[in-house]
Amino acid sequence: MKILQNDPDSIKIKVQTHVPLLNTLRRVLLSEVETFAIDIVHVYRNESALDDNQLAHRIGLIPIPEMNTENFQRREHCSCNLDCDRCCLHFRLDVLNTTEEERVVTSTDFVSYHTFSLMENVLICTLPPQGQISLLAKAYLGNGKEHVKWSHIAVPTFRPFPVITFEEKPDNVSASTSDLFLFQRGKIKPNFEKDVSHLLNYNGKTIRLTTGKAKVITAEVFIQPHEKDFLFSFQTIGTFNAKQNFNKAIDTLCRKLDTLKKALQTVVA
Ligand SMILES: [Zn+2]
Repeated sequence: MKILQNDPDSIKIKVQTHVPLLNTLRRVLLSEVETFAIDIVHVYRNESALDDNQLAHRIGLIPIPEMNTENFQRREHCSCNLDCDRCCLHFRLDVLNTTEEERVVTSTDFVSYHTFSLMENVLICTLPPQGQISLLAKAYLGNGKEHVKWSHIAVPTFRPFPVITFEEKPDNVSASTSDLFLFQRGKIKPNFEKDVSHLLNYNGKTIRLTTGKAKVITAEVFIQPHEKDFLFSFQTIGTFNAKQNFNKAIDTLCRKLDTLKKALQTVVA
């Protein structure tokens, strides 16, 4: 396994494994890793243009970044009667527009009752002059199987790793006309900072190359899918960084396999 690109909000990994395992990882990332999301909103006053349901739906989709979920319980497993510090996060929104202009209300206006905050500057609604909004939002642990607001990644994909060859390899190539290709130490590689999903379209096509003597030549390029290596990638929405997401998915998968193993041992015994 090799990390080809690791940004806070996206990751690209070269991995040698099988399609079923990659598909399992993709599904675990999407729907099994637990995060917090706002699920209940008590609206006391709402003088925005949005009705209460639209407002609650919009607030529910605001991510809670850099959450450490390990010390929390799901509400259905918590021993409290209702909404304790171990199963629920409270956020309060109270805004009165005292100006003569329209006032934009964003997630930054929320007051948090603990150390975690909502992602900043997410637009919620606008208030007219003297308009007021007052509500209490409660966030709980959940996962993407229950609702997409608990899903913390986007576009998890995998595809065979592209293997690039030339019909006749030119010497001293330093650049090409397409930014999908990179030349390093005389070798041609996919440029993973770009969307390389279109690379296979170049198979059998002629591209223009610059050689060491600043001479522009053309060469026929072949892009073939690797038999065992895959390119796995996804984007995050801000709850965890890309590497944390990947580690959490692996941990979740291991826990599930362990539970299955123990259940099987009980049956066999
Ligand atoms: Zn509780």
